Amino acid sequence: MLKKSLKYVIIGDGHAGNSAAETLRKGNPGSEIVIISSKPTHYFDHSLLATFLLDKKDITSLYVYPYTWYKENNIRLRLNQTITKVIPDKHELILAHNERVYYDRLLIASGAKPKLPESLSRYKNLLTVFTDAVDAMKLRERLGTFKHVTMVGGDCIGLHLAGAMLKLGKSVTFVLNEYNFWPLEFDETVKSKLIGCLKKKHIEVVADDMTTEIVRDGTGLNVMTKNGKIIKTDLAFLTSGMVPNIDFLDGSGIDVQTGILVDEYMHTSAQDIWAAGECATVYYPELKDYRQTTGEINAKALGNISARNMLDEKKVVSLAEPGKITIEGEDFITYGWKGFSIDI
Ligand SMILES: Cc1cc2nc3c(=O)[nH]c(=O)nc-3n(C[C@H](O)[C@H](O)[C@H](O)COP(=O)(O)OP(=O)(O)OC[C@H]3O[C@@H](n4cnc5c(N)ncnc54)[C@H](O)[C@@H]3O)c2cc1C
Repeated sequence: MLKKSLKYVIIGDGHAGNSAAETLRKGNPGSEIVIISSKPTHYFDHSLLATFLLDKKDITSLYVYPYTWYKENNIRLRLNQTITKVIPDKHELILAHNERVYYDRLLIASGAKPKLPESLSRYKNLLTVFTDAVDAMKLRERLGTFKHVTMVGGDCIGLHLAGAMLKLGKSVTFVLNEYNFWPLEFDETVKSKLIGCLKKKHIEVVADDMTTEIVRDGTGLNVMTKNGKIIKTDLAFLTSGMVPNIDFLDGSGIDVQTGILVDEYMHTSAQDIWAAGECATVYYPELKDYRQTTGEINAKALGNISARNMLDEKKVVSLAEPGKITIEGEDFITYGWKGFSIDI
């Protein structure tokens, strides 16, 4: 029988972590639940980030739950605290300030971070990222200082952001090649359809090319491509996909590939540790194979299934419905993103 006094610790205050916390609280009302997150802001809806740029709303308008929700549900929320190490043998986490935290059962829901192609690593400081509430607040403050933006890559975050930039009257250029459509279903037909739709929106598309160099030019930047194009721009966004945020697992002994490998019950290779959301590479019985997961709907579903297994239910994972992104009335299929449109 499930012990009532279990201490559940969740690394990550995103869709997966919160969905798990909610399920754990319902399933084991007497347990201790702690969510630890490296971010200063708490659980918010990423799909609203672009519209946040368009108005003057406070950042709390993006929050899914008010802070009081955590208190009411007896969930301890620890923000701005980074895990640097996981020690499965001791059931222990180490935080950046050297505190040690014990867990009975651990969920890793640490999400993903922007993928920086190795060839562009030298230009990291010249690239802007748009992945969280702090990025959005900083960008909103700078909106009056730029007119043209370049998307280095063709991921859904770039498309999402491009929609907002157009509404703000900015011009947009995409530099695309087949390696950085993420997580869009991709083949030559989809690529041409996407390029056609972006062009109809008056977005410049530099296709079958890649960014090779970025240099400062006065207050702006020159983005140079392999085929010799020089794009004069004010801001270059890194939009080449995401990779799991799992550096803190180095030396833990937990099996990872691209992400943390989990079985069909979302369990990792380490005892009493589960993983869910964008940090996980999941074994799907339907595919008889592993798949990297992404998107809000996926993260919520996987957080819920992990939690049910942390409550000793035996729940098997299944594939989420694909989402769709609409551009100029045409739909593009994504692996696991809740859909959005950049037309409205
Ligand atoms: C701009 C933007 C727009 C998006 N729009 C959509 C959309 O329209 N539809 C859709 O389906 N998806 C969208 N997504 C993707 C979606 O937000 C992600 O798939 C989802 O947030 C993944 O959830 P998650 O719980 O796995 O990770 P996240 O929500 O990223 O949460 C990860 C958590 O882990 C914490 N963490 C990481 N490392 C550590 C550490 N070492 N110590 C402590 N805490 C740590 C972080 O602080 C964070 O709290 C968008 C993403 C972005 C960036």
